[in-house]
Amino acid sequence: KRVADRYLKREVLGEGTYGVVYKAIDTKTGQTVAIKRIRIGQQKEGVNFTALREIKLLKELKDPNIIELIDAFPHKGNLHLVFEFMETDLEAVIRDRNIVLSPADIKSYIQMTLKGLAYCHKKWVLHRDMKPNNLLIGADGQLKLADFGLARIFGSPDRKFTHQVFARWYRAPELLFGTKQYGSGVDVWAAGCIFAELLLRRPFLQGSSDIDQLGKIFAALGTPKPSQWPDMVFLPDYVEYQYVPAPPLRSLFPMASDDALDLLSKMLTYDPRARISVQQALEHRYFTSVPAATNPALLPRPP
Ligand code: ADP
Repeated sequence: KRVADRYLKREVLGEGTYGVVYKAIDTKTGQTVAIKRIRIGQQKEGVNFTALREIKLLKELKDPNIIELIDAFPHKGNLHLVFEFMETDLEAVIRDRNIVLSPADIKSYIQMTLKGLAYCHKKWVLHRDMKPNNLLIGADGQLKLADFGLARIFGSPDRKFTHQVFARWYRAPELLFGTKQYGSGVDVWAAGCIFAELLLRRPFLQGSSDIDQLGKIFAALGTPKPSQWPDMVFLPDYVEYQYVPAPPLRSLFPMASDDALDLLSKMLTYDPRARISVQQALEHRYFTSVPAATNPALLPRPP
């Protein structure tokens, strides 16, 4: 079946946060693509013009570590977003017990993640929903950030769709405290959680509710002192909590290098103002010290 005279619909790839994703062939280029059909039919206004304008901005984002938005169009009351087709994602890599990730492989994956983020932060676009299954991996091994900016355009998905439980594990403490003025630091925190997950091969902070998520963060990193994060006490959902000392980060990541742990601790800094920026993270000595990051084409991937 043809969509918008250009795409030949193939099988459904999965049900995502915003709707169904299916495989298609772009008859204009012969390229295999993934089309995300976003339900907006229920809304009285039909296709929302603010969303369309924002989507147009996303089409301008072009970087080797960002998934390309090839096309966007309304069709039968749904918004269709056409992306380059990707083979797998980082979650599948992390979960695959047959895959061994060397320190150089981990460095390569987190470096590509940060490069994609740096490009978007430079253009003042936040991701806001970073998690391993949003980090797609192409046939050439390049990791690309998917769903950039969608959380902002279509609303925080996890509030609307209950199947979206994993995003909580990557949520920055300022979001859990109900901040309304978050910045690029939320993406850095999430990238830090993903870095930790690559090192551990399991999600680092698996909270079962928002409150439990804070508890998991406190248990791993110690409770933040107001002196460490002065603005914390003014956040809408701030509640006083019992003091928990920070265990040495080393005790949680026995296999990580000192450089890796230093960078990780800077990404998981409580105060978003004191947290390292993506650009600074890319300039951290972890990325210049040995071992060098693995060439993406040589990275281990699921079959
Ligand atoms: P979620 O919102 O849960 O992150 P998505 O809407 O991103 O899920 O995607 C739903 C499904 O479609 C996923 O299982 C994913 O594997 C697949 N998918 C999404 N984007 C692509 C793509 N660009 N290439 C190939 N498969 C994709």
